[in-house]
Amino acid sequence: MTEKKDDKMEKIVSLCKRRGFVFQGSDIYGGLRGTWDYGPLGVALNKNIKREWWKMFVDDREDMYGLDAAIIMNSKVWEASGHTGAGFADPMVEDLETKERFRADHLLKDNDIDAEGMSLEEIDALIAEKGIKSPKGNDLSQARQFNLMFESRIGATAGDEGKVYLRPETAQGIFVNFKNVLDSMSPKMPFGIAQVGKAFRNEIAPREFLFRVREFEQMEIEYFVKESEWEVEFEKLRLDIVAWNKHLGLSDENVREFEVPENDLAHYSKRTIDFEYNYPGKGFDELAGFAYRTDHDLKNHMEASGTTMEYIEPDGSRFIPHVLEPSFGLGRALTAVLCEAYTEDEMNGEVRTYLKLPVHLAPYRVAVSPLLKNKPQLVEKAREVFSVLKKEYGNVAWDDNGNVGKRYRRQDEIGTPYCVVIDFDTLGEENPDTKDTVTIRHRDTGEQERVSISDLIEKLK
Ligand code: ATP
Repeated sequence: MTEKKDDKMEKIVSLCKRRGFVFQGSDIYGGLRGTWDYGPLGVALNKNIKREWWKMFVDDREDMYGLDAAIIMNSKVWEASGHTGAGFADPMVEDLETKERFRADHLLKDNDIDAEGMSLEEIDALIAEKGIKSPKGNDLSQARQFNLMFESRIGATAGDEGKVYLRPETAQGIFVNFKNVLDSMSPKMPFGIAQVGKAFRNEIAPREFLFRVREFEQMEIEYFVKESEWEVEFEKLRLDIVAWNKHLGLSDENVREFEVPENDLAHYSKRTIDFEYNYPGKGFDELAGFAYRTDHDLKNHMEASGTTMEYIEPDGSRFIPHVLEPSFGLGRALTAVLCEAYTEDEMNGEVRTYLKLPVHLAPYRVAVSPLLKNKPQLVEKAREVFSVLKKEYGNVAWDDNGNVGKRYRRQDEIGTPYCVVIDFDTLGEENPDTKDTVTIRHRDTGEQERVSISDLIEKLK
């Protein structure tokens, strides 16, 4: 596809690099496609998103258990789950001139054709019929399936024996530990197992910043229910996902639920909703997925491993639980958060850019500055205030570069909700009434208020 350019998205990508959120992976060596490195502020934002997610979906609930499985798993896991087969491959075509490779379904989508579920022959026929060319205008090869699993080798074994894969999703780590969690925690039905971690997919055409990358983080839950209760539990979890999207600060008009039509569902799924975000320049596309996967996964692992995946009720009845799977990509969430927060307005007659991040997500909650950095009394007092706030909140910035106006701009651009400035009034030399008071400046409005240092922690909560 000809990648759609959007001013806003370009500005966000540029801000991300300039201000230390996200850098191109292996930057000094010309980059490595489909990889991105998170800088100091990106790490902070990601950490906040993951912390809030874990709090909402695990710590604040009684029915969720955490897990952190190994990235490299026994290859039999991926054979049983179907990932080594055609089920986890994308149709690929090659530009016959440049040898560049593209997702055939994406090229068709750019021509308003939905290729979901089509055979390679059907894809080839459509490409020929519609005269579809590569984005460079050249002829395309026939389509073939390209498996997305990253292969590696374990230990010193040669040949296929030592072949392993980097996990393409965190979900299978949960299924293969289902029995371990049952045996160690004796959970009551319904319950979920949650995991946050890296996943790897050898995407044919990584693109659109963090949207389609080869190494990314997922936040996933497998929620185990009785078959007869899946619809009730599906609706409850759906509402939890809606609440999560709101907690990320995403506005209603930029999030929508796409009910995957029955003929596009994976063969084992009875219902799937894609939660989509309206990415600037791209439009609505998947932010997170939510699928009812029946008992497909546990059954497959039971058959392939010979380990029972049955849940035993207190009355002795046994059954294989059915599964609801909310699956979130961290990079897509971070992008949505940044897109939603990115704002341009006019302040004091100048255009200003700021990130209207929710306080619980902002990399820094507050920045502390002495009005002038060459006045030792101001610096000393500001350091005192900084220490108190740092102890309370942790994510507090010290900023004494340039003049105060420049500091405000800089903090606005990285989404710091509050700036606290220590000035001569704080020292109270001219007017004892203002002693030990500071200015709090609010990011969104630019408003300033005078607050006593002793009230500061309460005020910034
Ligand atoms: P898509 O259709 O966009 O390729 P998918 O349906 O294959 O996505 P899932 O397998 O449902 O995605 O993965 C769950 C979540 O993981 C997605 O909703 C997305 O947030 C994230 N994700 C999947 N693949 C990628 C990728 N290549 N880069 C970034 N995030 C991804």
